[in-house]
Amino acid sequence: TNKVFCIGELLIDFVAENQGSDLSKATLFTKKAGGAPANVACAIAKLGGKSYFVGCVGKDPFGTFLLDVLEKNDVDISLAQQSKTFTTLAYVSIAEDGERDFVFSRGADKELKYDSSLKKDFKDSLIHFGAATAFLGGKLEEAYGRYYFDALTQEAFISFDPNFRSDLWKDDEATFIKKCLIFIEKAHLCKFSLEEALIISGKETINDACDHLHETGAKIIAVTLGGQGTYISAPSLKLTVPSIKVKPVDTTGAGDAFIGCLLQQIATLNSPFDILENNQLLLKMVTKANKAGALTTTGYGAIDSLPAKEQLD
Ligand code: ATP
Repeated sequence: TNKVFCIGELLIDFVAENQGSDLSKATLFTKKAGGAPANVACAIAKLGGKSYFVGCVGKDPFGTFLLDVLEKNDVDISLAQQSKTFTTLAYVSIAEDGERDFVFSRGADKELKYDSSLKKDFKDSLIHFGAATAFLGGKLEEAYGRYYFDALTQEAFISFDPNFRSDLWKDDEATFIKKCLIFIEKAHLCKFSLEEALIISGKETINDACDHLHETGAKIIAVTLGGQGTYISAPSLKLTVPSIKVKPVDTTGAGDAFIGCLLQQIATLNSPFDILENNQLLLKMVTKANKAGALTTTGYGAIDSLPAKEQLD
């Protein structure tokens, strides 16, 4: 199986327990490991794949906690970094009107330093870029650009998930879109929510959005649709692959489970690029990835509810 490098943020989510009140009133918070690229790395490792997390946490108890979580889930953390800057913290609450109330205290995730020694391992590997905080500047953004360049020159399989967080881009969506398009241009696999596909493409339907994103350069596009499954679009393929029926209790991490499961399967191919030539195999893999997403919704939290190989089989 080929290696999968997941590059991006790992942070603490402090989730307010008194749901239905905004953060100004919340008193009790639960500490959870968060960060989409880290979730993806866990999803892959739990399914038996070889995943590396490339990101930075603080040299503090929160950073130690986060790296422990990844290690316990069999993610290789030898490429993770710890800086003197405090671990990135996000405080989240669902306010009375159902809107998410969010305070973001950006710290060590932005300190990721580029490491030129990784480049040699990129050949035959899959590189997953999850962009939630990567486009907010800092050393991380510079490292992102350089790893993207290395992935291109080493002919790695490139996977991209914009992880659009409206709270982080309130006044500057256009910049976020512009930065995403650079990665979409050369991505072999892109994973979007419906909202992301429409926002980034500027189109009004899923069909038009995918056509536009293919024109930009994306090869395989997966648009996750919650309980309805996944719309999959490739140059000679366009259809919705249904998911299975489950009783969801918490949908956090379903998208990460989906893309992690898809990447883990692609990593088992002789060459990851074989998937670009085999629609039947792609549909089979998406069907399985849908199940991984569905199962994740049946448990609380993101990482804890990711399915293990035995469970998914
Ligand atoms: P995230 O909450 O991680 O941002 P997302 O919006 O990217 O998630 P979803 O569409 O919620 O992703 O879920 C990913 C996949 O998981 C879906 O494509 C689907 O296959 C499966 N899934 C999610 N929710 C359900 C559900 N309620 N029933 C069945 N399958 C589901």
